[in-house]
Amino acid sequence: MYRCQLCGDVVPKGINRQLIIVREPYRHTYRRGVNKKIFMDKGKKVEKWVDDPGGYGPQIVSETAVCLKCMAIHNQKLAAGGANIQ
Ligand SMILES: [Zn+2]
Repeated sequence: MYRCQLCGDVVPKGINRQLIIVREPYRHTYRRGVNKKIFMDKGKKVEKWVDDPGGYGPQIVSETAVCLKCMAIHNQKLAAGGANIQ
């Protein structure tokens, strides 16, 4: 049971939460020696700190829990070419 964050209707229990997830591209910067890499060398566990090369990836900006009716409207707008309803 939850309340739709767009229309305010209460969704009864037994219905899974529908999420509208808004993502935007995000550039991860290069970071030196931040990732720990563990590998086996001659039967001995060796830890080594390696660099994060950085790059591009999606970043979640917002998550909105909505009812089935609002999700259907959102999907129609996506199919029509509109991006977000927020
Ligand atoms: Zn709704």
